[in-house]
Amino acid sequence: DKEMQYPWSEEVCQVLSNVFRLPGFRKNQLEAINATLSGKDVFVLMPTGGGKSLCYQLPALVFGGKTKGTTIVISPLISLMQDQVAHLIEKGIRAGMINSRGDLDDRKSMFRLLNSGDLSLLYISPEMLNTSGQLKSSISRLHSNGQLARIVIDEAHCVSSWGHDFRPDYKELKMFKQQYPDVPMIALTATANDRVQLDVMHNLELKNPAVFKQSFNRPNLFYEVREKSKDVLPEIRDLLTVKYPGKSGIIYCHSKMSCEQTASKLQQFGLRVTHYHAGMTPDERMDVQTKWQEGSLQAICATIAFGMGIDKANVRFVVHYTLPRNLEGYYQETGRAGRDGLYSECILYYAYRDASTMMTMIDRDECDFQTKEKQRSFLKQVVQYCENKTDCRRLQVLRYFNETFDSAECHKSCDNCRSSNSTDYEDRDVTEVAKNIIRVVRQLQNENVTMLYCMDVFRGAKTAKIQNANHDGIEGYGAGKGLDRIDIERIFHHLVTVDALKEMSSVNKAGFASSYLKTGGQASAFLSGLKNLTMQFPKKGTR
Ligand code: ADP
Ligand code: ZN
Repeated sequence: DKEMQYPWSEEVCQVLSNVFRLPGFRKNQLEAINATLSGKDVFVLMPTGGGKSLCYQLPALVFGGKTKGTTIVISPLISLMQDQVAHLIEKGIRAGMINSRGDLDDRKSMFRLLNSGDLSLLYISPEMLNTSGQLKSSISRLHSNGQLARIVIDEAHCVSSWGHDFRPDYKELKMFKQQYPDVPMIALTATANDRVQLDVMHNLELKNPAVFKQSFNRPNLFYEVREKSKDVLPEIRDLLTVKYPGKSGIIYCHSKMSCEQTASKLQQFGLRVTHYHAGMTPDERMDVQTKWQEGSLQAICATIAFGMGIDKANVRFVVHYTLPRNLEGYYQETGRAGRDGLYSECILYYAYRDASTMMTMIDRDECDFQTKEKQRSFLKQVVQYCENKTDCRRLQVLRYFNETFDSAECHKSCDNCRSSNSTDYEDRDVTEVAKNIIRVVRQLQNENVTMLYCMDVFRGAKTAKIQNANHDGIEGYGAGKGLDRIDIERIFHHLVTVDALKEMSSVNKAGFASSYLKTGGQASAFLSGLKNLTMQFPKKGTR
């Protein structure tokens, strides 16, 4: 078992579930954790939202039988630092920060904690390191006491003058490897081309680092959304008998009851299928899992409880009998197909009535209001995904992970790309529309506005909020009047995927996370006419 090969493996799993309360690792997390715990220097490239923090927060709590120690995290943005530290403290983790803000007393007590060696994680801003002699000597003392566990460089692209966000203070970070060559370093970033990566590794003087980088794209998976008819089971039977005879797969259902019913109906068709869910005994589940893994069962009707920790390489199809709860889940569940790299298919059966049922289930659930709101908005994203019949599926899913994706790279490996030559859709040049949108965002971006708000301004909505802020007077207000709302949304989303706009999330004073819309690195290329935007739209009369 790959996950159990290190002395700290058991502890790593315990911390994951007991402290972070997460069900499993995402791609490259465990690999990066094992590498740093082995004492290696590590470079991690992961899309935003991919889960970089866990790669260093978890190891900070694992001691592998050795002395405890403090992990120093260099982070450039004080607001993100505060956010992270607050989350860690909430989880009962001893974390703190030292930055240029904060009053003298706070700082004093933080130094006391640091010097006592009792902090698991200390966040510092790079300029502190360069200006505070006290900080330098505290770190040095930790090191001589054998309590400097590791150094983390977050947003590591700031080290490189080739990057988009070079910060001179980051240059000085090379002193860590120079002064403490034995202390492992992790550098993490979401944005690095090869040149930036080399520059980062060179400037930080990483020693023969383990490199983990990834796109979230899974090129061997075909994605498709099908309309779910009232009587869809014969269609699923045909999938199993005609399309995938002798091949293994998973059919995801949304409840235990639905798993059992679906499985028993498919059995009546003579198929080797059974159910799997958390309501079964461990023995029953093990039995099903073994039979499926050997191939004596063709498919399993399962809840999302199935799949975690299961490593079957030749899963050829993943069918969603009901739509998933969120796109993240969809990505993880479909990700169980084709681990051997061979062509595999992911088919989602979508009916709006299923979405309404799930909405009602959320309403009835006993969790708090904020959680419900979150679940509702996740589900809405799934609905948008299902109803979108034009944009590349990969582009849509990867956008969720903030990964930019060029749909040409899909190579027609999704339903929407495959039918893109179909007669229902036509290319339209929307460069002027895009420019107007970018102008609107450029004028509003310093006022922390959401994408929804920018859409409203662009559409020329007459809300009190817009009028009170005098945003009905800005250039581009109402420029999108003649467009369908759904098209406006698609164009906004598209502009984010091509980096003309970007969403930045932050936590406000009340502790709520929001994301604000800003212009992105490619905005001026569009405004100056260097870049054009052509997108597909349904032909007139087909919507
Ligand atoms: P990044 O720093 O790469 O942008 P974060 O570390 O902030 O990403 O993680 C993004 C989100 O993903 C967080 O909400 C985090 O809780 C969640 N996350 C991280 N790792 C996992 C995991 N293994 N399983 C589920 N959610 C995860
Ligand atoms: Zn595609």
